[in-house]
Amino acid sequence: MQSWGEYISIFAFSLCKSVFLCYNKEKRKGVIGLRHYYIRVATFLLLLCCCLQLIACTSAQPAPFSVEVLDVGQSDCTLVRCDDTVLMIDTGTATARSAVQVALQERKIDRIDYLLLTHPHEDHVGNARMLLESYEVGELILPATGSEDFLYTVVLETAAALEVLCTTAQGGMTFSVGAAILEILLSPADANDENLNNGSIISRILYGNTVFLFTGDAESEEELLLLSTVPAEKLDCHWFKAGHHGSDTAMSAELLAATTPAIVAISCGKDNDYGFPRETMLKRLEAVSATWQRTDLQGTLRYISDGESVAFQED
Ligand SMILES: [Zn+2]
Repeated sequence: MQSWGEYISIFAFSLCKSVFLCYNKEKRKGVIGLRHYYIRVATFLLLLCCCLQLIACTSAQPAPFSVEVLDVGQSDCTLVRCDDTVLMIDTGTATARSAVQVALQERKIDRIDYLLLTHPHEDHVGNARMLLESYEVGELILPATGSEDFLYTVVLETAAALEVLCTTAQGGMTFSVGAAILEILLSPADANDENLNNGSIISRILYGNTVFLFTGDAESEEELLLLSTVPAEKLDCHWFKAGHHGSDTAMSAELLAATTPAIVAISCGKDNDYGFPRETMLKRLEAVSATWQRTDLQGTLRYISDGESVAFQED
C-alpha cells in the first residue's frame, strides 16, 4: 500500500505534467501570452504539493520515545526506545524466548544499547544469555545484589567472554537513552539472599517533562528503603511499571501516595498461579485514580510520550 506522501507526489507530478503539456501546446499554437500564467500556476502547484508532502512525511514519523511492556507471560521484559537508542529492562523467562525474538525482529532491532537486569530471578534474566549471544549489546547494567544461581552465573560468564561492558548499578547513576535519561534511584547491595526481589534495581526514565518509574520485583521492604533514601521529588511519576507483576506485596499505599502515577502497566501471565494482579493491589490503584493495562488481557502494551504527556497506544 502506498503512503500519503507517495499519493501526493503522484498527484503533484500529474498536475505539473498537465500544466506544462498545455503550455507547450499553446506555445506551438503561438499563444505566448499564456506563458507567464502557466508558469505561475505550475510554480504555485509545485510549492503547494511540496508543503503537503512535508506535512505527510512529518505526520508519518514514529514517536521518538516509546515504552513497550512486551507480552512475555508470567515474566518481565520492557523495551524503551528513544531516537535510535534501545534500552531493554529485563529479558523475560526462557519460555518466552521466541516472543522476545519476534518483538525485536518486528521492530528491526539488532542492537540493544543498554540491557538492564533488575534482579537475578529467571523470569527477568531468562533470555539474557541468548540476547548477549545473538544481538550486539552495548552495556549490561547489573544489580548490586548478585546471585550464585547457575543461570545468572552463566549470564555473567557470557558477558565476560564477549567482553560486554558491565556496570553495577548504584543510586545516582545516569545513562543517556537518546534524548531520554535513565536514572538509577536504588540498587541495594545487601538484599537478603532469601528474597532477591528486594535487591531489584529501581530506576526512572525522564523524557521531557514525563517520568516513567520501574521498580522490578521490589516488595514493601525495598519500597520503604526507597521512600526513606530517595528525595520525594524524584519519585513523582506519570507512568509506573507495576511492581512484582501486580503482587499485593508491592505498590504499597505509601509508595503510590509518593509516586502518584496516572498510568500503571502490569506484566503478568494469563491465569497465572500467583493470582497476579491481586485484587487488593488493584483497589490501591483505584484509590489513587490510576488507570492500568495488563499484558495478560491486552498483550504487549505500548506507551508513547511527547515530552509533556504519556498515552497508551492501542493496536
Ligand atoms: Zn518477577
